[in-house]
Amino acid sequence: MNDGIQEAAMTPIFPGSEDSAGRQATLGVLGGGQLGRMFVHAAQRLGYLTAVLDPDAQSPAGRVSHYHIQTDYDDPAGLTQLAHLCQAITTEFENVPAQALQTLALTRPVAPGAAVVGIAQNRIEEKAHFTACADVSGVSCAPYAVIETRAQLQAVQDERADLLPGILKTARLGYDGKGQVRVKTTDELAAAWAELGAAACVLEKMLPLTAECSVLVARGWDGQVVSFAPQRNVHVEGILAVTHAYAGNMPPALATRARDAAVSIAQHLGYVGVLCVEFFVVEDGSAHGMLVVNEMAPRPHNSGHYTLDACDVSQFDLQVHAMAGLPLPRPRQHSPAIMLNLLGDVWFDGNGQRREPDWIAVLSLPGTHLHLYGKLQARAGRKMGHLTITGPDVASVKTVARRAADLLGLPGLDVS
Ligand code: ADP
Ligand code: MG
Repeated sequence: MNDGIQEAAMTPIFPGSEDSAGRQATLGVLGGGQLGRMFVHAAQRLGYLTAVLDPDAQSPAGRVSHYHIQTDYDDPAGLTQLAHLCQAITTEFENVPAQALQTLALTRPVAPGAAVVGIAQNRIEEKAHFTACADVSGVSCAPYAVIETRAQLQAVQDERADLLPGILKTARLGYDGKGQVRVKTTDELAAAWAELGAAACVLEKMLPLTAECSVLVARGWDGQVVSFAPQRNVHVEGILAVTHAYAGNMPPALATRARDAAVSIAQHLGYVGVLCVEFFVVEDGSAHGMLVVNEMAPRPHNSGHYTLDACDVSQFDLQVHAMAGLPLPRPRQHSPAIMLNLLGDVWFDGNGQRREPDWIAVLSLPGTHLHLYGKLQARAGRKMGHLTITGPDVASVKTVARRAADLLGLPGLDVS
């Protein structure tokens, strides 16, 4: 993979500097969601101007950026304007058209590049990549089969009973558990494939998970790599609910293996920017379980939001440094942390009546850091913000997280 992707020489873009045309150093992002907003905050703190391309006039990042280009992601005029304004460009959402990144890359440094984003957007290519570097990374993905044609469906039905029960996942455009159907029998598999519109899919064996974790890696144009320790993630209905980020959040041997694997996956891709690699811990009869790589996101990740408050360098700082060709500081976590995702559900009571969460009570708890993304409408399942709890030790962080979850109307949430 490295062979196909050039390690480009990159002249650093200094914050606050002006280019030969007298334009102040500006960093751009394709996509205006909450990840873009936190990127914009980090870039501005360093002294850059920022430009966001997102069609939504109210997009979380567009509302806080110096420039907001309100066109579709593949609009030629919008992309031209973004390239004109910016010295380097990144992306913040999963399904940004790879073609748009390619167009921008003709005239500007783009990190991550279209090729790697294209791999991460397609589960078939993603798994092929994980398999290709399994010897180096030391981890494999779940047993799976590709289903793109009726013949492949039939072959899986005839020959791959070992993959059932399994999860049928669309190869493209899935996120937060969308585009997935759990199947137990070959009949259910056929029905699920029809339900997913006979789109290109992978059927993955359902594994007995004991935990899930993710690792954030940042890699520069020059190949320099830094990473964060793995965070343990709890999902509810396919959406991240809680992230545990502290020493002892998982067995140390597994944590080391996950971190090394994520770094080698980024290296093998010739990746530039921030990459999040998600892993399963699978029950295999051993003391700590087996590590299996699940998927990767070519950008900062929801599970890394705690780095804003618990680390001296955040995932967004590293995104800025990497794309601008600045050195990558090795991040240091200074406090144990738990992050609670705040979905739109928190703005409704048990009867579906709208309410304002009791922020006074929540923010009266020690070590609470509230981040709201400026979204105007709360809807069930919509990511509205997050709350990070930091403290002097893990026990007190857990105690405060429990109280905060109760105050927010999330009594069933497992924060232990
Ligand atoms: P998404 O792109 O929606 O995050 P994932 O592939 O990560 O999709 O699946 C969402 C969640 O579903 C995972 O975090 C995990 O909890 C569960 N899951 C996915 N694949 C498997 C599997 N093969 N075995 C067991 N659980 C799985
Ligand atoms: Mg996932």
